[in-house]
Amino acid sequence: MTDHPASERYAVIGNPIGHSKSPLIHTAFAQATGQDIVYTAIEAPLDGFKATVQAFIAAGGRGMNVTLPFKLQAFEIATDPMESARLAGAVNALKFEGDRIVAQNFDGLGLVNDIQHNLGVSLAGKRVLICGAGGATRGAILPIAAQQPALLAVANRSADKAHGLQRDFAAHAVLQTGGYAELAGESFDVVLNATSTGLSQAELPLPAGVFAPGALAYELVYGKGLTPFLKQAQAAGVTHIADGVGMLVEQAAEAFAWWRGMRPDTKPVIARFTVPLE
Ligand code: NAP
Repeated sequence: MTDHPASERYAVIGNPIGHSKSPLIHTAFAQATGQDIVYTAIEAPLDGFKATVQAFIAAGGRGMNVTLPFKLQAFEIATDPMESARLAGAVNALKFEGDRIVAQNFDGLGLVNDIQHNLGVSLAGKRVLICGAGGATRGAILPIAAQQPALLAVANRSADKAHGLQRDFAAHAVLQTGGYAELAGESFDVVLNATSTGLSQAELPLPAGVFAPGALAYELVYGKGLTPFLKQAQAAGVTHIADGVGMLVEQAAEAFAWWRGMRPDTKPVIARFTVPLE
């Protein structure tokens, strides 16, 4: 940090971390807003998450983004987990304030901001389906439910895991949960793929007709072009498709605003990282 003695330090922590776009995104935000920060990527040893965070704090670190596989451990070291982190059971942003480690999960908010502000699809009154019941879905439920969709359904390969979400979120959201076969005969205005099939190239067993006319099909994985889910949607006649690059940039913008007190313009940064869906 000798190049920037007065800069305030932020970082993304994960393992592996070489692929992370967060340093480029936050550096672009800092330049655009005139903030003097240095944002780096830190690869923590798999058994050394807490020690690495403590060393970063000791060196003057102000905040961190947290990515795989440390999102649950970040929750455990938080002294002040905010509601978004408590309900998700996972953390993607930390702020260090004296002895306090404040924790948030901005993934779900980033997703909703991308769908509503960037893609122009209001969730209010819509039938929304989330495929998958992992960490990304846990983070998405509350922000989506806050938009008051007509229906919020969660389908998962292991139906029990989806039913578990219904219990965990009972005080906050009404969810319809089950396996994919139970979706037969139903259609949705917004279908989100929050499974990891975009990375493994596996196909989801979605019944015919799950996409309503004019539906948005949204793949949370980003930068992989046309994933099997997006191909399925296109084959079903869906023309409004998107991947998760906007979600990535929007969650980063939420963290930046939380740390720095100012919200950057996300559109040029999304454009910079968008990979054509073809
Ligand atoms: P996770 O906790 O590991 O959950 C994975 C989910 O995928 C589970 O519901 C799992 O079902 C399902 N799944 C895996 N393989 C499957 C298959 N062959 N068929 C059907 N379902 C399958 O992962 P996560 O953290 O929720 O993340 C999900 C995806 O979202 C990741 O690929 C990640 O890259 C993406 N993501 C993107 C952003 C962004 O900013 N754009 C942010 C967060 C996450 P079972 O429970 O039955 O195993």
